[in-house]
Amino acid sequence: MGNQNETMDQLEMQLNRLHRSIRLTTERYLEALTGTRYESLKQNQKAAAKVGQLLDRYGLRIRCTECGTPSILRVSARKNATGGVFVFDHVVNGKRTFHGGKSVFPPMHLTEKPPRKANR
Ligand SMILES: [Zn+2]
Repeated sequence: MGNQNETMDQLEMQLNRLHRSIRLTTERYLEALTGTRYESLKQNQKAAAKVGQLLDRYGLRIRCTECGTPSILRVSARKNATGGVFVFDHVVNGKRTFHGGKSVFPPMHLTEKPPRKANR
């Protein structure tokens, strides 16, 4: 049993290392988007959805710049912003909440996706 435990410990360590590398690499690529936007609401929504898809695949979320909560980036329609506004979609104090609201991609610092809550 001793050897197997060691194997699992090593595997976990190795996976953690790889995961960290994925997170840092992704963060570096996303930096290029910060402060930019596409022309249309549709394009911005598509880009944000693609980011969300990739992050979800690797168990990552974006840290809200206002409160730090792990969140999903979305683009909402606004009358005065043709490309829409970027918002952090997250649950704060048990309530679905949106923070942010700039018309360009915010800084995207990545964090672990929180574990699923037990049945509620
Ligand atoms: Zn927030």
